[in-house]
Amino acid sequence: MELTNKILKLKKEKKAVILAHNYQRPEIQDIADYVGDSIELSRKAMNEKDAEIIVFSAVDFMAESAAILNPEKKVLLPTPGARCPMAQMLTVDEIKKWKAVYPLVPVVLYVNTLASTKAYADICCTSANALEVIESLNAETVLFGPDRNLAEYVQRKTGKTVIPIPEWGFCPTHLLFQPEDVQMLKLKYPDAVVMVHPECTFEMQETADFVGSTSQMCRYAKESNAKTFIVATEEGLLHRLGKDNPEKQFILAYEDAICPNMKLNTLDRLYMALKEEKYVVTVPEAIARNARKALERMFEITK
Ligand code: SF4
Repeated sequence: MELTNKILKLKKEKKAVILAHNYQRPEIQDIADYVGDSIELSRKAMNEKDAEIIVFSAVDFMAESAAILNPEKKVLLPTPGARCPMAQMLTVDEIKKWKAVYPLVPVVLYVNTLASTKAYADICCTSANALEVIESLNAETVLFGPDRNLAEYVQRKTGKTVIPIPEWGFCPTHLLFQPEDVQMLKLKYPDAVVMVHPECTFEMQETADFVGSTSQMCRYAKESNAKTFIVATEEGLLHRLGKDNPEKQFILAYEDAICPNMKLNTLDRLYMALKEEKYVVTVPEAIARNARKALERMFEITK
């Protein structure tokens, strides 16, 4: 039997739901029940009342969030060690260091953080709701980690003082995009609309017609009258954009913008994880309790 059919059969037998991040390989996106960003997917997981198993095809912090929000379900990550390097850039010690300097300043953590650090957050945010979350806080200064580019973007847009923790956090994949590449593509596609993720540098954001998260890019592309788009985010999103908008053309702003960690997941690994119900992602309750509060507070604000 073909691997795809084997996965679909197992999924039914085990009452499993497959969630795939926008950056997953096309064949994984095609077999998934839902494709989206990390919080869209966690919300989906919470609404899947009948599912007993969640296969979260992404990197580990996303699977951790699903486990925190769905403590009664078994959450599987197809590849152990599929870890976001940016999430690893923020440690508990780093947060404690900054909290000691600014004891009254709220800590806002991007969902791209490990559960152990989320436990120290007052509230979480995504790249889609970061502005809304910061605006909602009754504070003119916030500690924000771990992405420095997103912190600066939020500071520019809200006018608040956003202190990046650590001072140098970044996504290695989004840092690959360069304005020169966009300029070259614009010569070839002068009418193209440029969409840039806020994890890219300020200089890249300056080239954009639209700056937004992956889910916001999907919406923007659907609603826009433009026919051609230059896209600065991980290449996996182009599969979804193309499927949702077959009449439009999407060009990656840098052709090697591939997150190797996201691409560790394969159909084979997904199949084996589901078959053997392995690699179960768990978060100790002492950590999960605080991290859940930070995530739920974000959901309250961005219902
Ligand atoms: S694309 Fe960047 S932020 Fe997303 S998982 Fe990969 S390294 Fe982490």
